[in-house]
Amino acid sequence: MTQSMTQAPARPQPVPTAETRPFWAGAAEGALVLRRCGACGRLAPPLAPRCPECLGDSLQPETLSGRATLKGRTRLHLQPLPGRSGPLVIVEAALVEDPRIVLVALDESGCTAEAPPGTPLRLGFAAPDDGTRFLIVLSAEGQP
Ligand SMILES: [Zn+2]
Repeated sequence: MTQSMTQAPARPQPVPTAETRPFWAGAAEGALVLRRCGACGRLAPPLAPRCPECLGDSLQPETLSGRATLKGRTRLHLQPLPGRSGPLVIVEAALVEDPRIVLVALDESGCTAEAPPGTPLRLGFAAPDDGTRFLIVLSAEGQP
């Protein structure tokens, strides 16, 4: 068995696009950044090529609070991602700035384990040594 067969595969790296570049640039600084429409003011999800309300293309980056509410939670027991062991807790979080935008974050601390839907959350970015950044739940209000 070669050494490469015994090492866990590297975590996949995001490849920013024109639409996701502000999100990943913000993530590198630990900030949640989405784009807001300059025409109608609606916040756009990270992958939206245009404003979901007016289809305008004048989307400007905006740093958000990182506050959200818990929408759903899934616990994966299978080998979830390269380089990670399970279980993995995936949380759907609706942003307070626009609850129509639901982002997926990892709950690495287990703070959402007993949290009911609607629990206020604080989101942020994990910064592992491999240089990747991914959205995590920093805390859940009223939960240990
Ligand atoms: Zn718009």
